[in-house]
Amino acid sequence: MTKIFWVTCPECSGEFYCHWQELRHKKIQLLCPYCGHRFLDEESPKIVE
Ligand SMILES: [Zn+2]
Repeated sequence: MTKIFWVTCPECSGEFYCHWQELRHKKIQLLCPYCGHRFLDEESPKIVE
């Protein structure tokens, strides 16, 4: 089963999910599908795991 987590974009407040194993605590920038903003998981104002 693939584990995911939800993040909130700090720019547009859009919520989307990412693959936990690949992106959580990895210092890899996430790409917001709504506005194209790139940010780290730590910069998300809200994370749901
Ligand atoms: Zn965004």
